[in-house]
Amino acid sequence: MKIWKEGHMKIGIKDEHEIKLMRESGRILGLILHELGKNILPGMTGLELDAMAEKMMKDYGVVPSFKGYKGFPNVTCINVNDQVVHGIPTRKPFQEGDKVTIDCGVIYQKFHSDSAITKGVGNIDLELSKFIQTAEKALKKAIETARPGIRIQTISGVIQDVIEKNGYSVVYDLIGHGIGLNMHEDPQVPNYRDINPGPILQPGMTIAIEPIFTMGNSEVKTLKDGWTIVTLDGSTAVQVEHTIAITEKGCEVLTKRPDES
Ligand code: MG
Ligand code: MG
Repeated sequence: MKIWKEGHMKIGIKDEHEIKLMRESGRILGLILHELGKNILPGMTGLELDAMAEKMMKDYGVVPSFKGYKGFPNVTCINVNDQVVHGIPTRKPFQEGDKVTIDCGVIYQKFHSDSAITKGVGNIDLELSKFIQTAEKALKKAIETARPGIRIQTISGVIQDVIEKNGYSVVYDLIGHGIGLNMHEDPQVPNYRDINPGPILQPGMTIAIEPIFTMGNSEVKTLKDGWTIVTLDGSTAVQVEHTIAITEKGCEVLTKRPDES
């Protein structure tokens, strides 16, 4: 792996073989999230989904990257309603109309992938449906934008515009990131136009793009468990995420699920 240095940043430029390993890491994670997504149903619990995820990881021969990360207890983060990120899966059953986000990461042959899905439980109201669709749209537009020669800030701006044009609020404290031999690497991938425009993207860079926003305002707080981040105003939050690789002409979504075109 070659290293691109810009200022204080060091970004790994993955070669063809390394991208192949990341593609396999992402493919397996996509399959796992696809299965988990089908089980976001009334009465299911976060802990049940987490156990399913752990079993699938074992079966596919990948290592969970969240479990044990700074002491995190599970292989998934599961965030219901006002929970934004880093939620610890619980025994509390999902209820009709809830929002559920599953964020998950795996390691295959030392290479990380990181991805998140958000779904409504059973029948959800139009407001929640539009909210989740907006997250998917922001991520899709970001992916369509990602290509060599542009700066990270261009992607960030696309995400910010989709969020704000729909009347939602960016969570400034939570951002995407470079990914490779570590889950979190340079560069930072904010969901807003930061003053620092970030590096110019190049083929072989791999990043996790994750729009995170709320129906209310931008403020969040961490619960007493030391992990779960919730909105301060109790409003519903959303997160969706894909790991992508910058290619010669654009980008490749490494964590694509079977139900995505
Ligand atoms: Mg994630
Ligand atoms: Mg991430």
